[in-house]
Amino acid sequence: MAFKTRFAPSPTGPLHLGHAYSALLAYDMARGGAFLLRIEDIDSTRSRPQWEAQIYEDLAWLGLDWPAPVMRQSDRLDAYRDALQDLWTRGLIYPCSCTRRDIQAAMSAPQEGAEPAYGPDGLVYPGTCRRVPTQASPPEGTALRLNMAAALEALDGPLMFEETGAFDAPQTVQINTCDLTSKVGDIVLSRKDFPGSYHLSVVLDDAAQGITHVVRGRDLFEATQIHVVLQRLLGLPTPVYHHHRLIRDEHGKRLAKRDDARAIALYRAEGRSPQDIREMVGLPAR
Ligand code: GLU
Repeated sequence: MAFKTRFAPSPTGPLHLGHAYSALLAYDMARGGAFLLRIEDIDSTRSRPQWEAQIYEDLAWLGLDWPAPVMRQSDRLDAYRDALQDLWTRGLIYPCSCTRRDIQAAMSAPQEGAEPAYGPDGLVYPGTCRRVPTQASPPEGTALRLNMAAALEALDGPLMFEETGAFDAPQTVQINTCDLTSKVGDIVLSRKDFPGSYHLSVVLDDAAQGITHVVRGRDLFEATQIHVVLQRLLGLPTPVYHHHRLIRDEHGKRLAKRDDARAIALYRAEGRSPQDIREMVGLPAR
């Protein structure tokens, strides 16, 4: 199997050292195979063309190259709509008009008793809108949620994936389906303002690009169980996952978009070299 990986940044701010590590590691691992770039711009309120342009510039400066054309999620709406229609026809997704406040209120209602559960996707949805849809197609302009219990019932056999980065040695991770219903629940697969969500698009795009190895940060390790469920439901292959260590600041906090002080562009303006960046993130010189 030819090694094919990708770097999938969202153009919502400057790339920082954490992104540089992820991209460089994926690129290094793909030697002899392919390294692809994908622009995850489904968040139209935060995505900006200037950040997309900066991504290309920073990655090229770091010494990376990738085939054109670059996949952009905003060009993939038809593929997302087709998958949603498929899941809808099988009765596995339903419309949901709950706001965050509605969900919090439902979960703190006295009869519910227990503390609201938080999973890799935030608050676990209490199921207020869950029902088997009767229309032929999903309505536009409403969020759509996966009926997790129905989805798991539709799947046979154990759910698992190969992990090469998160532990001391490569491992097959068995997914606990009870956790999927209690700690993950009915996740959003399509947003009110966009026919898709991070989980749905990442799974469809990795398959469309033929990605064999997903290299990304350990913060996304928990989300992988959701991705495996979606791959199985949609008949897509499950790639090998390599969840790498996170780059942290001097206080041990994971770098985030707000860490503009560690933006690649600033290091570059200060006169640092791509080799300096490799050293800062603990990668061997090339
Ligand atoms: N677009 C995501 C991010 O910037 C990456 C998702 C992934 O690699 O699966 O965090």
